[in-house]
Amino acid sequence: MFAKERKIPIRIEQNEALIRNLNRHHSKIPLIEQDLKKRKAGYNGEKSIDYHLSFLDSQKYMIFNDLKLPMTPHHFQIDSLLFTPFYTLILEIKNISGILTIDSEFNQLTRNYNGIETGFSDPITQVNRLKLFLQRFFYEHNLVLPPIEFLVVISNPSTILKMAPGQQLLTPYNKIIHAQNLISEISNLNSSYNELAATKKDLRKIKRVLLAQHDTSMTSVLKTFGIEEHEIINGVNCENCASIMTRKFGCWHCPECNLSSKKAHEQKIEDYFLLFKPFITNRELRIFLNVSSPRTAHLLLNSSNLKIQGSGKSTTYHKEFS
Ligand SMILES: [Zn+2]
Repeated sequence: MFAKERKIPIRIEQNEALIRNLNRHHSKIPLIEQDLKKRKAGYNGEKSIDYHLSFLDSQKYMIFNDLKLPMTPHHFQIDSLLFTPFYTLILEIKNISGILTIDSEFNQLTRNYNGIETGFSDPITQVNRLKLFLQRFFYEHNLVLPPIEFLVVISNPSTILKMAPGQQLLTPYNKIIHAQNLISEISNLNSSYNELAATKKDLRKIKRVLLAQHDTSMTSVLKTFGIEEHEIINGVNCENCASIMTRKFGCWHCPECNLSSKKAHEQKIEDYFLLFKPFITNRELRIFLNVSSPRTAHLLLNSSNLKIQGSGKSTTYHKEFS
């Protein structure tokens, strides 16, 4: 049991919604699909680390997965954050395949994959920045912070790690490790810390504040990809043949393949929230679903498990993302 579970990143769902709601020949589709693939691989890598972490005793370790904490003017994100009464551990998870060469002199990481070399930003520099943000956050929230340790965990088991020619593996670069060594690295940390830094009460306060401060807001995926609102297709798609369905006698009907469905609008409404904003009005729904009757829209919205605010024409229906 984690203090905070890892969920499918909202950006993955946003990308999928975008693909569903654009013309399938839209020029940006390959770009969105490429980004989606990268994010899914990253998420799967992180999930595989959660598997290793799940062997730790949840009485002894308080683990937060995928934390996004506010830091003026933006926020910072930690893949996994682990607390014990003795130390804090930041995990930066990297899903990079191929041969990874660490160059401690130039602070860079080079990946060779099928003969193609790619440079990556130095994960040590990245984690050091996270460390500073975390210290500032804890200071601002008046929280006790046990000494910070970190590990950069390579989630792909077939990745080969090596040092640049003539260089020795010295600290902090020995903190870049393979996932299968994670648990033994954690037990090494356990034996090197024996001074109690946080009480149970401190840890409870940390948990309360981190969960309350975790940022669930999302960024506009349309802006990210430079797509205009009018490029998004209105109307409910048939799950069979993707044609636009029509509403008949309380059902969605596909004129192309004759499929009829009671629930075809549900995904489309979810897509609205992922693409535009976390709330919708009756009028906006009618445009988006291509239905003319305010009564039908009212019916669909009221059966959609949304939070209702306001009344009459200014009623808004809100989706709550957790
Ligand atoms: Zn159809």
